Amino acid sequence: MKIDLSGRVVLITGSSRGIGRAAALLFAEHGADLALNYRENTQAAESLLVELKKYPVRARIYRADVADEHAVGRMIEHIVTDFGRLDVLVNNAGIWKEAAIVTMTSPELDEMIDVNLKSIFYCCRAAVPHLAQRGGSIINIASTAGQRGEAFHSHYAATKGAIISLTKSLAPELVGDKIRVNCVAPGWVNTDMSAEELALPDAQRHLRLIPLGRPASPDEIAGAIVFLASDWATFITGEILNVNGGAVLCG
Ligand code: NAP
Repeated sequence: MKIDLSGRVVLITGSSRGIGRAAALLFAEHGADLALNYRENTQAAESLLVELKKYPVRARIYRADVADEHAVGRMIEHIVTDFGRLDVLVNNAGIWKEAAIVTMTSPELDEMIDVNLKSIFYCCRAAVPHLAQRGGSIINIASTAGQRGEAFHSHYAATKGAIISLTKSLAPELVGDKIRVNCVAPGWVNTDMSAEELALPDAQRHLRLIPLGRPASPDEIAGAIVFLASDWATFITGEILNVNGGAVLCG
C-alpha cells in the first residue's frame, strides 16, 4: 500500500521553517492539502508556498501566534472555511531557550509554557470537533528533553514531558471520535533552533550521546510524522515514536 493522503487536509503549526516545513513538503508529496501556520516569518512561509507549487495540492499560509487561544480559534475556523474539512493536526510549533532555574524569570517561564504546551491545548480544543467529523489524527512534537530532562532548559523539558502525557491522555479520550493521537520525540535535529548550539566548539558532547553519531535531518523527522498520519498507522494511538538516533533508550 502506498501512502496516499489525497483529499485530506493537514494543519501543521510552525511550518515556515525546520521540521514543520520538511513535514509540509512530505505531506504534499503524498497528496495532502496543507494549512501552514507560522508566527512572523512571512517570507519563509511564502517561499514554502512557492516550493509546494510542484505538487498538485492546495496550500495556504496562516499567520497566527499559537500561544494566543483566540488567534488559534480564528485560524482553525478560517482553515475549515477555506478547505471545507480538517483531517490531521500536527502540533509542531515550539521554542527552545536557555534559563537556569535560579535566574529564570516568570515571563520566560510563561512564554515557554504558553508557546510549547498551552498552544497544543488550544489547537486540539479548536480542531477536535472538525477532526471528529470523519475521524482524524493528531501528532504532537515532543523531544528527548521531555524524556530524560535537559539541564539549563528545565522549562523546555517540562513542556515536552507534558506533551507526552497529554498525548497519552488524549489518545483514549478521543478514541470514540475516531481520532488517533500520537507523538514524535526527536533528538537533535539540524534546524534553525539547534544551529547555534550545534555550531559551538563543544557540540561533540551532544553528538557523543547519540549512538548514530549525528543529528537528524528535518526530513528524517518528517517521515515519522507522515507515517503516523497515514493509513499505515491506523492501529497506532497513544504512541511516543522516538526519532533520536538511538539516544535515550540505548544512548
Ligand atoms: P525552528 O526551526 O526554530 O522553527 C520553528 C517554527 O515554529 C517556525 O516555523 C516558527 O515560525 C514557528 N513558531 C515558533 N513560535 C511560534 C508561535 N508562537 N506561533 C506559531 N508558530 C511559531 O524549530 P524546529 O527545530 O523545526 O522545531 C520544531 C519542533 O520540534 C519544536 O516543537 C521543537 O521543540 C521540536 N524539536 C526540535 C529539535 C531540534 O533539535 N531542532 C529537537 C527536539 C524537538 P516563524 O518562522 O514565523 O518564526
